[in-house]
Parts: sequence; structure tokens; C-alpha cells
Amino acid sequence: MKIFKFGGASVKNADGVRNLAAIVEREEGELVVVVSAMGKTTNLLETLCDAYFHRRGDTDVIMRRLREYHRDIMRELFAADDAVYGELEELLALLDGVLAGESAMCYDYEYDRIVSFGELISTTIVSAYLRREGVDNRFVDVRRCLKTDASYRNANVDLELSGALCRGVFDFQSERIYVTQGFIAGTRTNQTTTLGREGSDYTAALLANLLDAESVTIWKDVPGVMNADPKEYPQAKVIGRMSYKEAIELSHFGAKVIHPKTIKPIQNKRIPLYVKSFLYPEVEGTVIAEVDEPLRLPPILINKGGQCLLTLTPRDFSFIAEEKLSKIFAVLAKYKLKLNLMQNSAISFSFCVDCNGALFEAFIRELQEEFEVLYNRDVRLLTIRHYTEAAIREIVGDRVPLVEQRSRLTAQFVIQN
Ligand code: ADP
Ligand code: ASP
Ligand code: MG
Repeated sequence: MKIFKFGGASVKNADGVRNLAAIVEREEGELVVVVSAMGKTTNLLETLCDAYFHRRGDTDVIMRRLREYHRDIMRELFAADDAVYGELEELLALLDGVLAGESAMCYDYEYDRIVSFGELISTTIVSAYLRREGVDNRFVDVRRCLKTDASYRNANVDLELSGALCRGVFDFQSERIYVTQGFIAGTRTNQTTTLGREGSDYTAALLANLLDAESVTIWKDVPGVMNADPKEYPQAKVIGRMSYKEAIELSHFGAKVIHPKTIKPIQNKRIPLYVKSFLYPEVEGTVIAEVDEPLRLPPILINKGGQCLLTLTPRDFSFIAEEKLSKIFAVLAKYKLKLNLMQNSAISFSFCVDCNGALFEAFIRELQEEFEVLYNRDVRLLTIRHYTEAAIREIVGDRVPLVEQRSRLTAQFVIQN
């Protein structure tokens, strides 16, 4: 059995859905098709959630956009009397029901209830379209069998329970192809949860692990994992093969092409991950797998924006020793901020974190209780794996880095935007 995952870009319009069907149709064996919300629907649903919870914006206007976007796609795919229009209306009525109710006190809980409709709608359309094209398939509401704790927006999967439930649901007894949602899941008490933004890749990997898939293919708008984001560096080249370890490092440093949590579940069972272009499905793309021999990889650039560089100096003139460091790490953990680079001297500690958190100001205030805090919110982090001097010259150029760090395989530069 194989897992195919289609991201938002691959199903952003009717042509995308037709293309998905053509790719699925070519497959002869057992298949689980994991689908994300169409295009930028999750972003739209985030604005809906804000309008509902914080009363910022008009929920009716956003609901109209949501309905029209999907109906426009459906009009190109289905006859006017197709039952799928009714299915869309049923889902929208459920969402209207959520919006009509009194919101709970917990934003994250409401967020998951609302944004999950993106994937519920996309899979309803995809499953119906495949059936219309003569590709029999079973629609699975993944919330029934992918079970998590109640950490809304970043839920942790209960692997044992989910494994048992998923093997019951995806049993391939009477059906060869299943269509299900990425990104969303459910608690034991059937509350909706999500796995973190861009989490559909992770769903595909989890299902692969739980169902012992022979491979996972994620279909992207790029021809594979490349040695830089081709949207920023048009000369970027596809890397044909890489190890799980390399893929984890790249996604950890911010290569957007794979969600960081994707690799572990497949690595543990040595399931290969193919990254392929949905536009050119016959092109080989990248395979991420167990690699025994050392691979010679070209310099790989990861350009991560949205960074904040902080330098802390203890107010009491003590040194940056273990006690101070543990205090800093405790505050970072409390605010769930991801540390991307760190460097210390005797009396100062500098580090780079993602600075998109809503609680960033509170984080700074808490640090200021004990440290003098200097920070710059307008920086980016350039990471070059397998660097060469020539690659550094080409990428960093004559910019003077604010911080620079090199290990055997990785060079990092914090630069002003
Ligand atoms: P999905 O449709 O599955 O959500 P994403 O948009 O999350 O796909 O990921 C694909 C995008 O990742 C590409 O369009 C590309 O701009 C970006 N990207 C960043 N780094 C790389 C890289 N090293 N190789 C390929 N694509 C990359
Ligand atoms: N739809 C979700 C998001 O946009 C999950 C995903 O696409 O992977 O974050
Ligand atoms: Mg994505």
C-alpha cells in the first residue's frame, strides 16, 4: 500500500483536481490519498476564526468567499445537479452552526473546530470527483481514527490507539483507494484537533507508519527537494537522493518543502519518501531513504525570514553560566519559541528565534526581569548545508553578518533584512 499526499497548491483549482485524479488513476495498487485544504483556504479560515473569536471582521463576508471559492471549482468539475453540492452545503451548515454558537473561552479549541473545515471540504470534493471519474474510493473522516491529546493547534498523536483504529478503518477489504484529510485529527472524546500549520505531510507520514505503507509520495509544485527554494533561486537544482537525517536537518533549519515532523515516523519504519512534481509526475524527483554510503551533496541553502536576534546580558553582572542558561531556556520553552542559532561569550548570550509568536512582547518582558535585552526583529537566517567558500561568497556576498557560525557541515549567517 502507498500513501499519496496532495498539498494545497496541487488542488487550488479545478485543473488541479483533474490532475490529481489522473495521477491516482494511474496507480494500480492499494492507495491512501491524503489531501490538504484547497489553495489558501486555511488562511481564509484563520481570518474566519479571528472574526468569530476576536470580532475582527465580518464572518458572513468570509463565509461567502469560502462558499464561492469552492463552488467555482465544483462548477467546473460536476454537473449542476450533482449530490456533491448538497454535501458542501451540509459542511457549511455545520460551520455556520459553530459560528452561531457562543464561543468557548479557548481560542485554540475554536481554531481547530473552524480551520478543519478546509480539509473536510477538499476531501469531500476530491472523493466525489474521483468517483465521478470511475475511480471507486472510500471517504474517511480521519478524526475517527487519528487520535490525539487535547493540545489544540499542535496536538500529539496517540500512536497506539491510532494504530489500532486506523488498521480497522483502512482495511483494504472492500476498497482499494481511500481519501482522507491531512492536518486534522480528533481526541478520544471526538473533539477536532490539528497537528500544526502545514501538517498534512506529517499526517501522510503518520498513516504510513501506522499502516506499514511501502512508500509515501508527496506531490508538490516543485520537481523535488532542491538545493534552494526555486522561487528565490531560479537556478536551484533537484537533489535526487538524500538520507532521512539530511531531510530532518533541512526541514529543521526551515526548508519549507517538508514539514519538520514528517521524517521521524517514516524513518522509524524505513519507509521511503518521494517528493515529486504534480505537474510533471513522470519526472523522478527526490527520494528520501536510508542511505548507507556517504552522499556528495551540493551546497544547500535555507533562507529563513521572520527571525529575531536577541542578545542578553545579566543585569547582576554575573557570567553566562549554566544557571543563567537554564533560566533562558525555561523562558523559551514557556513561550514555545524555536531556537534556531545560539552563541555565547562570558557575559552575553545571543540567539535567533522565530518571532511570529503573539506573545513575543511578553517573552521579552520576562527576560528583561533578569537581563539587559537587545533585540533586532528584522533579520533573516541563512543556513548553508555542505557549504563551500564559493557558495558562501555567492550567497552572503558583501553583506556583513550580525552573527556567523560554522560546523563541519553547516554554516549559518544572521543578516539584516
Ligand atoms: P504544499 O502544497 O504541499 O503545502 P508547500 O508550499 O508547503 O507545499 O511546499 C512547497 C514549496 O516549498 C515550493 O513551492 C517551494 O517554493 C518551497 N521550497 C522551499 N525550499 C525548498 C527546497 N529546498 N526545495 C524545493 N522547494 C522548496
Ligand atoms: N491546510 C493546512 C495548512 O495550510 C495543512 C497543510 O496544508 O499541510 O497549514
Ligand atoms: Mg504546505
